Amino acid sequence: MNVTLDQLPLRDDLRGKTPYGAPQLDVPVRLNTNENPYPPPPELVADVTAAAHEAAADLHRYPDRDALALRTDLAAYLSGATDVELTCANVWAANGSNEVLQQIMQCFGGPGRTAVGFEPSYSMHPIIAAGTRTEWLPAPRRPDFSVDVAAAAAVLKERAPDLVFLTSPNNPTGQSLDPSELAVLVDAAPGIVVVDEAYAEFSDRPSAVGLLATHGHKLVVSRTMSKAFAFAGGRLGYLAAAPAVVDALQLVRLPYHLSALTQAAARASLRHADATLGSVALLRGERDRVVDELASAGYDVVPSDANFVLFGRFTDAPRAWRAFLDRGVLIRDVGIPHRLRVTVGTPEENDAFLQVAVDVVTEEL
Ligand code: PMP
Repeated sequence: MNVTLDQLPLRDDLRGKTPYGAPQLDVPVRLNTNENPYPPPPELVADVTAAAHEAAADLHRYPDRDALALRTDLAAYLSGATDVELTCANVWAANGSNEVLQQIMQCFGGPGRTAVGFEPSYSMHPIIAAGTRTEWLPAPRRPDFSVDVAAAAAVLKERAPDLVFLTSPNNPTGQSLDPSELAVLVDAAPGIVVVDEAYAEFSDRPSAVGLLATHGHKLVVSRTMSKAFAFAGGRLGYLAAAPAVVDALQLVRLPYHLSALTQAAARASLRHADATLGSVALLRGERDRVVDELASAGYDVVPSDANFVLFGRFTDAPRAWRAFLDRGVLIRDVGIPHRLRVTVGTPEENDAFLQVAVDVVTEEL
C-alpha cells in the first residue's frame, strides 16, 4: 500500500485541502465544539440502552428507510417548541444536520449552481458546497458580525443564488436574526433559503419555523439534536420544510442512511426532551455570566444568543489559543483574526476558563 495522497487520482479541487475538524485533545476543560456539557441522565441512558437492545434483535433487517416513527416524534417536538403544526411529512432526518445540509446542496445546488452565505459563519457550509460542486459566493457581515439585512437583500437580488445559507444563531459569532428579518431575506432570494438553527434552543428569538406557513415554497429550517439535546454522539439532525422539499431530499438520500440503532436511540432520547432541555436555561444563564466576566476582565465580547461566545481582541489569536491550552483549557480558533470562541460549559468549567482568561488577558491582548 505504498501510495501517498499526492499520487492518488484525486479530484483537482480536493488537492491540497485539509479535512474539517477541531482538535480532539484530552485536556481537563474542553470548551471547543459547542456541545451540551451535561451528560445524559441515568434514566435516558437506560432507555437508550433498552431501545438499542430491542433494535439489536432485528439487526439482520434493514431499518425503516423513511424513519417514519422518528420523523413523527421530531415533528411533535418541533410543533411543541414553535407552536407551528408540523407532521412527519414536514420533517426529514439524517446523520447530523451536516448530512441534512449536504442532501439539500445535492438537491438544490450542484455544478452550475450557486450558494450565498454571510461570513464569518459556519465553515462547513462552503465545504459542503465544494463537495457538491456548488459555487460558493461569500457575502460580508458588518464589522460587528451582525447582518445588514437591507444590504444582504440587495446581494441576494443581484447575485440571484440557487441557495442561501443563513445561520441563526450564527456560529461562530453568536448573533441571531429575527423572523421579520428572515422574511425580508427569503422574499429577496429567488431560490431556496436554508436557515441553519443548530443553536435555536439557546436563542431568545422565535424560530424561522413560524415562517413556513407564508414562505414554505422556498424556506428550509435545519436543526440538530447535537447541541441543546446533548446527543452529539448519537448523530441526528433534521429539518422542517414543505412536504415537497422532503420529497426532493428522498431523491438524493442513500437508502437506509439512518441505522436502526440511531433511530431507536434518537427516539428514546426525545422521550426525555424535558429533562435534557432543562439544562438550556442554566446554560443561557452561564453564557450571560461568561459574557459579563469576560467584558469585566477587559475583553471585547460579541453578544451571544447561543451557547458559545466569541471574544478578543488578541494580538495573535493562534498564540492566545495555545496559552489557554497550556493552562488546560481547550477553546476554538475559528480563523477570525484576533478572536477566539469558547463554548459555555458547566459552572465549574466556566470558572476554570474565566480564571485562565484573567491570567491570559495581560499577556495576549
Ligand atoms: N450547523 C451549525 C451552525 C453548527 O455549528 C453545526 C455543528 N458545529 C452543525 C450545523 C452540524 O452539527 P451536526 O452535524 O452535529 O448536527
